[in-house]
Amino acid sequence: MKLATIQTAAGPRAALQVEGGLVDLHAADPGLPPDLQQLLAGGEELLERAAACAGREPDLKEQEAHFLPVVPNPQKILCVGLNYADHARESGAEVPPEPVIFSKFASALAGHGQPIVLPRASGEVDYEAELVVVIGRRGKHIPEQQALDHVAGYACGHDVSARDWQLRKPGGQWLLGKTFDTFAPVGPYLVTRDEVPDPHQLDISLRLNSETMQQSNTRELIFSIPQLIAYISQVMTLEVGDLIFTGTPSGVGFSRKPPVFLTPGDVAEVEIQHLGTLRNTVVAEE
Ligand code: ZN
Repeated sequence: MKLATIQTAAGPRAALQVEGGLVDLHAADPGLPPDLQQLLAGGEELLERAAACAGREPDLKEQEAHFLPVVPNPQKILCVGLNYADHARESGAEVPPEPVIFSKFASALAGHGQPIVLPRASGEVDYEAELVVVIGRRGKHIPEQQALDHVAGYACGHDVSARDWQLRKPGGQWLLGKTFDTFAPVGPYLVTRDEVPDPHQLDISLRLNSETMQQSNTRELIFSIPQLIAYISQVMTLEVGDLIFTGTPSGVGFSRKPPVFLTPGDVAEVEIQHLGTLRNTVVAEE
């Protein structure tokens, strides 16, 4: 299934991609919750019930849909730094012996088609295409062998990054540099795990104004998805709806000569095989 959260007259609603558009799941079956996170929390039973709506007539066309962040209010957004060897090299960093984890707040989320706002406080806003893992079952101390059972699915993500804050503020302000409002676009869809044959064999790319800036494959991940889930869940309980940004490949703007940073009017597209394309236009903060 391809699930989304869309804005409707009745508020944010979990939606299912069907032939010709999208179905509002709660409207189609009032036994299904309007919230995608609650739908995931319902486990197999509710997901099968949602899948049964696949034959419905669409409520709206995809082009008419106002997409919101796939999971609008996750308890946690975790991100992995330097998880592709080529990106570690271009950043002048060693390949880390253990995952480097940082976070964003839910206030940074943006949906497919929503703007990325360039903050007044930064002059060096950069792009990073990333595979996002959506947690579907809570767990602590999850063994690697069982880690994928805790995954609901995958989405395209964009880890927008203010390099001046991340790299040159005292101490290196990774948190602040990565969590400005709109710095975490995710979507358009959560593609359920059964529709992704191998999450470690996905082409991933980022286009800026139609020019390819990043192009790689998730087989290049240093730490695999099971390794990341096992590592993180030693520390904290992973909850349904939590998001893990798994890191970006090489080609980011600040490593280029001359550097490339986002400017108003830019269109950034993250495309991942089987997951679709996440498109956001860049605007200046008012
Ligand atoms: Zn990143």
